[in-house]
Parts: sequence; C-alpha cells; structure tokens
Amino acid sequence: MSQKAANAVPIFDVDNFDAGVDITEVAEDTYQCTSFANCTAFDTAEGLVMVDTGLAALSEHMAEALRAHTDSPVHTVIYTHGHVDHAYGLEPFLVDGQAPPTVIANEAMADRFDRYAQTKQYNEVINGRQFSADPEAADSHDLMDEGMFEWPEHPPTTWYSDDLTVTVGDTTFELHHARGETDDATWLYCPDRDVLCSGDLVTASAPNAGNPQKVQRYPWDWADALREMAALDPATLLPGHGQPAVDDPEAIERRLLGCADYLDTVVDRTLEALNDGAPPHVDIVRDIDLPEPEEPWLQSEYDCGEFIARNVIRYYGGWWTGRPSELKPARRDALAAEIADLVGDAETLATRAEALIEEGEGRLACHLADYALEAAPEDEAVQTAVANVYEERAAAAEDMMSANIFASAVLYANEGRSFR
Ligand SMILES: [Zn+2]
Repeated sequence: MSQKAANAVPIFDVDNFDAGVDITEVAEDTYQCTSFANCTAFDTAEGLVMVDTGLAALSEHMAEALRAHTDSPVHTVIYTHGHVDHAYGLEPFLVDGQAPPTVIANEAMADRFDRYAQTKQYNEVINGRQFSADPEAADSHDLMDEGMFEWPEHPPTTWYSDDLTVTVGDTTFELHHARGETDDATWLYCPDRDVLCSGDLVTASAPNAGNPQKVQRYPWDWADALREMAALDPATLLPGHGQPAVDDPEAIERRLLGCADYLDTVVDRTLEALNDGAPPHVDIVRDIDLPEPEEPWLQSEYDCGEFIARNVIRYYGGWWTGRPSELKPARRDALAAEIADLVGDAETLATRAEALIEEGEGRLACHLADYALEAAPEDEAVQTAVANVYEERAAAAEDMMSANIFASAVLYANEGRSFR
C-alpha cells in the first residue's frame, strides 16, 4: 500500500464514516440517509423509490439504518449522476426475493461510463491525487474500490433525455436533466410530499464546477437548474452531500438562489475578462474579482472560484494559455536547465523558492521550485527544498483539491520526478 502524503485531506477514509450514517424521516414516509454521500427512500404503496444509493463501501450501513424504518422492496431507483458515490451502492438495499427494480438515469450517463472505460488508468491517477494526494494510491482509498470505472452492478434500465414524470404507488416524481458538475445530472421534485432531491447540484460547500483535473463542468446551466428548483418553493431540500433542509422554504430558496448568483457572478466576470481582448492567460484569472460569499455552503472547501473561472475559459476559449512561447513549448526539463544555468544552478532556484514561501509568496515560490526540480531531479538538496515548499503550500491551501495536488507534489519532489 502506498504511503499517504502528510498533508493529504483524507475525505475518502472509511474510518471517517464508521459512525457517520444518519437517517431522518424528512417528510411522511420519506427517509434521508446521510453519510459521505446521501440517498433518499420514498416509501410508496408499491415499494421504495430510491434516489441514489451511496458509496458501495458504506451502503450496507445505510441500508441497515433504512431497514429499521421500512421493509418495503425497492421498486424504482433514480441515479442523480454516474459518480461512484451515487450509482454503485444499490445491492444491500434490495430485499430477498424481490423483483429487480427499475433503474432510471439520464441518457448522458451511458457516455460517462464509456468514457471511464476508455480512460481508466488516467482516472485512477487523478482520483488518487485528488482524494489522497498519492497518484499511485488506487489501493489506499478503500472506498473507491474496484468497479468504480466500470458500469455499476445495477445499471440503468430506463433512460430519459430532458424530463420524465414517474408515478409509483400514487406518488409522483418529476425528473429533470441538468448539466452542472456532470453532464448527466438529474434533480427531482416530489410534489405530493413537497420534497426536492438536488443530487450534487447542491452540496455542503462551493460547487465542484472548476475541478482542475476533470472534464468540463457547466456553471451556467447549473445556475439555471438551481433557479428552476427555487421556483418550486419546496418545503424540504435533500442535497447530494451534507445535511437536509427540512420544512424551511425560505431558507431553501435563499440557499438555491444564493448558489445560482455565485455561479452566475463567476461566469459573467470571467466572460467580461475574456471579452476584454485578453488572451486566456493566467493573469486574466488572477485579475477577476471573484465573489467571496460568507454562507457556509459556499465556502471553498472542496473546489474554488478561481478554478471555476478557469473552467469557464476552457469552455469558451481554446487550450492555449495565451503565452506565445507556450503555443509550441520546449520540454519542461530543457527550459528548467536553461534557467538554472542562468542563475547558477538548480539549488539556487530551490533556495530562492524556500525564501519566497517564507515571505508569503507561495505562487511565485512554486514556479521556482518546479524549475529547480525539473532541472535537477536527482539532487537531494533540491528534492528536500521543493518538498518543503509544497508542504507549506499544501498546508496553506483552503480547498481540498489544491491541498491534495500540492501534497502530491511533495511526494513527487521526494522521489525526484515531475508530474507526468
Ligand atoms: Zn457526490
């Protein structure tokens, strides 16, 4: 098993969730099971309608908690999207001898599972880095076990495109497709119980709309979906992660519209900067006046506004950084060797990087640290200095994605290699 980086933020440690399954009856015969990721069970005259199924490694605990309240078989399952913490945990919820449930998902989910199959190794590396800082730690985050890049054990049996209304045992569910963190998102409203299930379009922190290692996110469509949800004025909001909001329509509306405003503001200001005639260079991102909301559910704990802005630029612009030399760049080690030669040697760069990070210039320090390691990957003094720089950068990071990517840079520095 690989060693975890000291500064990794281990949100995927199963130990963190041993006692973390809560179940609440949020509306009549409606149970919200809260764990790392949440799932909902609507008990109807014909059986359960489940929204999501949790992470496979925890769904047994979730099913056990649910079964203390109801013995009904699972009639229908709706996956809010195809991520590992939502669509892979159905099996323990099924009761012995029951008929196979109908499993509903948006049609874009099929392409998602196919993309996973095409990019399995890449996804293992980036998820290792994102969740435990170690890109080779496929076996160190037990919750993301085998199968996460395959089709789920219980794949969808019914696909829909834009909207779908489903009635089970006289209870109606209105399903809507949206693009947000993923392009296959479903959110749903149950008018009979005035309950809204948002999936990951609502979570406990700033939207995961900028993730630096992953496919395109859609913050503008995300904001539209949040406004459609708010227009329903639901009494109860059940988010994909975090605590439910029960019987409080005003707070729910504030939360949905507040998140929509946050996303729209980042998008609008980014487009304004892009239209300013600037090439999509990193400097324009630094100059965007990003909102700094105070609401606890909009804090940059996981993703951050700066990444969302870059994700907007990626969608509307091309891949070029706007820096002429980076149109057809030299190899990183060749450039680093030139720079090291000019200043004397790689150790000089590394020493300056350490001084800069002490002065609070973390961004600048890391550029020099990268050049130092690229120029002299075998030099132990350089390795140590670069590891120190990134350890401090990781410790200072607010959002988990930055913290873990910087922590993985510590691992790389200690092994004398660059990100591949
Ligand atoms: Zn999730």
